[in-house]
Amino acid sequence: MGHGFDTKSVHITMKRDGGIPTKVTPIHQSSAFTFKDLDDIEGFYTGEREYLYTRVGNPNTDELGKAVADLEEAPVGIATSSGLSAIMVGILSVAKAGDHVLASHDLYGGTYELLANELTAFGIKVSFVSFEEDIEQHIQSNTVLLYTESITNPLLRVEDLHKVVQIAEKYKIKTMVDNTFATSYLVRPYTLGINLVVHSATKYIGGHSDITAGVLAGDEDLITKARQKCVNLGSNLSPFEAWLTVRGLKTLAVRMERHIHNAEKVASALANHPAVDKVYYPEYVSEKGRGPIVTIDITERADIKTFLKSLDWIKIVATLAGVETTVSYPLGTSHRNLPKNVQQDLGITEGLIRISIGIEDADDIISALNHALDSAKR
Ligand SMILES: *Cc1c(COP(=O)(O)O)cnc(C)c1O
Repeated sequence: MGHGFDTKSVHITMKRDGGIPTKVTPIHQSSAFTFKDLDDIEGFYTGEREYLYTRVGNPNTDELGKAVADLEEAPVGIATSSGLSAIMVGILSVAKAGDHVLASHDLYGGTYELLANELTAFGIKVSFVSFEEDIEQHIQSNTVLLYTESITNPLLRVEDLHKVVQIAEKYKIKTMVDNTFATSYLVRPYTLGINLVVHSATKYIGGHSDITAGVLAGDEDLITKARQKCVNLGSNLSPFEAWLTVRGLKTLAVRMERHIHNAEKVASALANHPAVDKVYYPEYVSEKGRGPIVTIDITERADIKTFLKSLDWIKIVATLAGVETTVSYPLGTSHRNLPKNVQQDLGITEGLIRISIGIEDADDIISALNHALDSAKR
């Protein structure tokens, strides 16, 4: 280059345009993209150049959004900094101040707080109702969106998405579904007529407990708006996190197959344990299985503190969906900030434990859980 040392030390690592046929997408860990001249900059605005600035768009985040959209059989998708930011920009693509969102009452705790505490402060009205009952009586003239989860957390209720779509079509309103627990391996809400599908990619899509990310897929007009919200609110995902998430996504199907296979075995083993009051596990989700999570209630028959202390290699965490089996305690974590009466209505009891079934040998998972239950039995 013929420059001084200081100049070289800055420029020596700059990526050359080698057109190297790498097997996987390289990480475009760059906050911005360079331009040769004014015409080149103009090219970004006329569509000849794809990238300007990473908050506005980046090849790695685009790759993730498109990949999940393809799996959901939706036309377009975007990746965001977290599941919650994907939910936020999704809702804001439909609802503005004065509009009403009708949400299922048994949502993920963080979603409940986003809706109840933040979006209401933007002037969006929100009601939480049981989607198992008559939803239509709660629809108002300003209702614009029905919001629910394909499998709810932590009690694993399977939503009747056909019913949700039917009602939305009747009242000409939009629908949005959090598909984090089921994943597109089990359920593809967009194919059933849902407008927006959201994932906490932190969970099964990433799959290895090493990233926080979100993805939103759905109707083109809504995703265009959501993409703009994401840019304006600064909810973009980092290129490296997107790259890791894409790496995880490639094994989604084999991981889910094993998670579900193991979960079915664990659910039936725990149903027969004398320390377990109740096992929550869906009767049916899809022809591919009944889901990767098993929730148990041991309030009456076992001591929760002893159980959680006796888990041996199974760790207690405030998340799910890794390759390792883990347990979480909804009352102390995800559902901690809900009003007491809401916790009670939802069945978030003192002895409720959500088990994220890993990909280990099913027999090892069952014997670790049996050991902890034996120790904790009253
Ligand atoms: C974890 C989770 C979220 C929030 O996702 P983050 O990536 O933590 O922001 C939303 N919905 C469900 C069902 C979740 O499990």
